[in-house]
Amino acid sequence: MDELEFDECPACESDRIRHIRGSITHRRNGRAVQIPKAMYWKCSDCGEQFYTMADMRRIEEYLDRRADQSIAA
Ligand SMILES: [Zn+2]
Repeated sequence: MDELEFDECPACESDRIRHIRGSITHRRNGRAVQIPKAMYWKCSDCGEQFYTMADMRRIEEYLDRRADQSIAA
């Protein structure tokens, strides 16, 4: 696996960051899409949200599935 982990916040360099599962809103093609069970990192100090490559891949897969469904529906 090429899963990258963060040990500090890329915005403020705090180490008070957590990998959490939760709902996020992702913007794609100018539309905001709600993703109910995304994994992401969040900084407790500045509130920045950031993603590993693996997190992004899961988000992209979710968006692709959603796009297929909306075409079918
Ligand atoms: Zn931060």
